[in-house]
Amino acid sequence: MSEIQNRFQDLFGTAPEIVAQAPGRVNLIGEHIDYSDGFVLPFAIKDVTTVALRRRTDEVIRIASLQRSHEIFEFTLESLSPLTGEPWTRYPLGVVWVFSELHKLSGLDILVDGRVPLGAGLSSSAALECSIATGINELFDLRIGLADLARLTQRAENIFVGVPCGIMDQSISLMGRAGSALLLDCRDLSSKNIPFDIAPENLELLIIDTQAHHSLVDGGYAERRASCERAVAELGISSLRDISVTELLNRQAELDPVTFIRARHAVTEMARVLSAVTALEARDFAELGRLLNASHASLRDDYTVSCLELDCAVDTAIANGAIGARMVGGGFGGSAIALISKDDTATITAAISGAFKKAGFKAPRFFTSLPSEGAHITERALPR
Ligand code: ADP
Ligand code: MG
Repeated sequence: MSEIQNRFQDLFGTAPEIVAQAPGRVNLIGEHIDYSDGFVLPFAIKDVTTVALRRRTDEVIRIASLQRSHEIFEFTLESLSPLTGEPWTRYPLGVVWVFSELHKLSGLDILVDGRVPLGAGLSSSAALECSIATGINELFDLRIGLADLARLTQRAENIFVGVPCGIMDQSISLMGRAGSALLLDCRDLSSKNIPFDIAPENLELLIIDTQAHHSLVDGGYAERRASCERAVAELGISSLRDISVTELLNRQAELDPVTFIRARHAVTEMARVLSAVTALEARDFAELGRLLNASHASLRDDYTVSCLELDCAVDTAIANGAIGARMVGGGFGGSAIALISKDDTATITAAISGAFKKAGFKAPRFFTSLPSEGAHITERALPR
């Protein structure tokens, strides 16, 4: 038996029926454009959340997490309603809840073991939701496809947890492939695997968690979205997806200066994602690096969502040999990524740690990852 099966047995007194896992993610390029109908290009990382599940003969839901002192939280299917329960239990419960709206479920015992760093911008939340969804889908033989599982888990997070996330995190956690990134069209949710096989090139993706979170500027997200909506209204288009870079530049006079630079970020970032796909298909990693750098400059200068720690991480990585680097996620803190040669990992991490220390910032955390497999069942106890 695997470790999680043993722990499940200890906690719940029986063996689980099924074990499922789902990974965290990194978005290679395409930042702050999901809400403008843009493209994103995430990949699944090697760190996963694993869940063990067993159906019960009653309506009781019992949940525990190895990251939450093994305490067992108990609910009933009937009592599930959005925003109830301990904050962390809302992620798994929300998934049970969305499934229970569609299908008759029985009670469940659920044990979570999440190895995706929590709150580092690597989407431990989607890994948790998607591992549970993959397990329930299999356990009740529901045969729900990956795109619908992505919509269901997003709904769980939006409604039950109360976080207005987009659909990228769940999509990539479910659909990731080793050696690939996923081009996801946020307009119609169609997706395509793009080769991103960096291991044979001796390359690696370094993830730098700055550990900074500038909460004073949290309202910045809403403000950026509002700017994009204003640009759309003033230009008389249905979304920023519908205007080319050249056309936007020609119509600059129709927008106030701030609205214009916000829109310029969105429109140029969409173009960069498509250029990144072309670069990946040609295995042109130098070009990919240039696009990452350009993305960072645009987020810093036009969208103004970077911060001193993110700029320090990106600039130091590049100064020490990174092929390209950029901030990822919402901004004002969180993580940055750098495409690096594996041989430079030690030099670059040491340089960033040194620069952070010198600037008086909190010590950063480092992770590396290669594009990995999406959610799947790892163990099945029952013959099917
Ligand atoms: P991110 O998704 O970037 O890691 P979020 O704030 O969206 O950050 O999600 C992190 C939250 O998800 C945690 O605070 C916790 O509530 C929940 N979570 C994720 N993984 C686990 C786990 N293994 N055990 C308990 N809670 C978890
Ligand atoms: Mg999250």
